[in-house]
Amino acid sequence: MKIAIMGAGLSGLACAVTLERLGVEPVIFENRNRPGDRFVNGEILLSALNRPVNDCIAYFSEEYNIYLKPVGNIRKAVIYSENEKAVVEGHLGFSNIRGRNPDSFDNQLAGQVKSEIIFNSTRTYEQLLQEYTHVVLATGDASYASRIQNFQEDLTVTLRGATMEGDFDRFTVYAWMDYYLSPKGYGWLIPISEKEASVVIGYPDYPENQKTPSEIYWERFYERVCRDLGQHLKIMDTFQVTRYLFGIVERPRLGNTFFVGNCFGSIMPFLGFGQFPAILTGVYAAYDLCGEGNYEELTRQLRKSYYNGLALRRGLEKLDNPQLDLMVKSMNTHWGGKVLNSSYDYLKWIGLFLRPLVASEGRRV
Ligand SMILES: Cc1cc2nc3c(=O)[nH]c(=O)nc-3n(C[C@H](O)[C@H](O)[C@H](O)COP(=O)(O)OP(=O)(O)OC[C@H]3O[C@@H](n4cnc5c(N)ncnc54)[C@H](O)[C@@H]3O)c2cc1C
Repeated sequence: MKIAIMGAGLSGLACAVTLERLGVEPVIFENRNRPGDRFVNGEILLSALNRPVNDCIAYFSEEYNIYLKPVGNIRKAVIYSENEKAVVEGHLGFSNIRGRNPDSFDNQLAGQVKSEIIFNSTRTYEQLLQEYTHVVLATGDASYASRIQNFQEDLTVTLRGATMEGDFDRFTVYAWMDYYLSPKGYGWLIPISEKEASVVIGYPDYPENQKTPSEIYWERFYERVCRDLGQHLKIMDTFQVTRYLFGIVERPRLGNTFFVGNCFGSIMPFLGFGQFPAILTGVYAAYDLCGEGNYEELTRQLRKSYYNGLALRRGLEKLDNPQLDLMVKSMNTHWGGKVLNSSYDYLKWIGLFLRPLVASEGRRV
């Protein structure tokens, strides 16, 4: 068995670490010149989205021998709508760094891999299929899966963000659910140190949203963030991701190709989080390759979560700003703390409840 992994990101590296642990050495092909060679960005692992797991970092190390160090544990989430503000406290999850930072998850995982990583690779999927018995597609996008008609696309999203300098509490994250700032989407601030934070907005590419240039949304959002934090934040580097695709593969394994991470459809459409499922799909593909499980079965739960997340997203998109105000106001109550803190999977049940409503409108969920 000769295994090629295409992409040295979260899912590809998690797959490699697991294969090695099971005694198989893959070759990893990465088209950039080092691991995590992309813009630096703060991301989070939110426990409420990964139930029944409460502590994702402990779960990865206990269950899969994957050791990750977050930037901090999240003790507080401050959520703003147009006119309301909620503060939810508890053990809400972890924040971490991605990209060109030595402490990024990408670099941490690369440090755990012993197999060869071929950087600046120009090898195509078709070439790898010729040379290897199995290919794990982990390129962080669905282009190959779409090209071979194995991917159902649900929406694309514009993401615009920056690293900003200011004074931050590493244990507090912020979100803005205000459709004037990011229509049908939301914005967030994730500290990556006491002095730097990632500030990002994301919204779906619906025609009505695209009538306004992303620059305008970005300026509005920046002003609002500065106002709510009571600071003049200094913009360091900026980034924009266009047409970031949310969707899911029809067949997670096709012949001897495994689709992992975003190639599988790991981005959960509700809030666009994909790190946890990306790592899991990498591990599961390795299990199948080593005869320790069946990839399709192992990913079934992630597929269900995807559709639940899609129903939640469709439900969220139906709201307007006054309704978002009500939602955020209600989060200040016991209810808000419960949804984000409890080990009970409230979001799953809300998603399941919404699915028939969304489906009855002829939308795919
Ligand atoms: C701005 C932004 C914010 C996000 N915030 C969060 C968050 O807060 N929480 C969360 O859980 N998720 C978040 N996500 C989603 C999360 O980052 C992804 O779901 C996750 O990184 C997917 O992992 P992956 O392995 O599929 O892809 P990646 O980790 O992106 O890795 C893909 C790798 O493949 C390489 N590659 C690409 N093409 C080729 C090729 N042709 N040949 C060889 N190599 C190739 C790339 O260079 C890269 O190294 C965010 C995403 C973005 C864009």
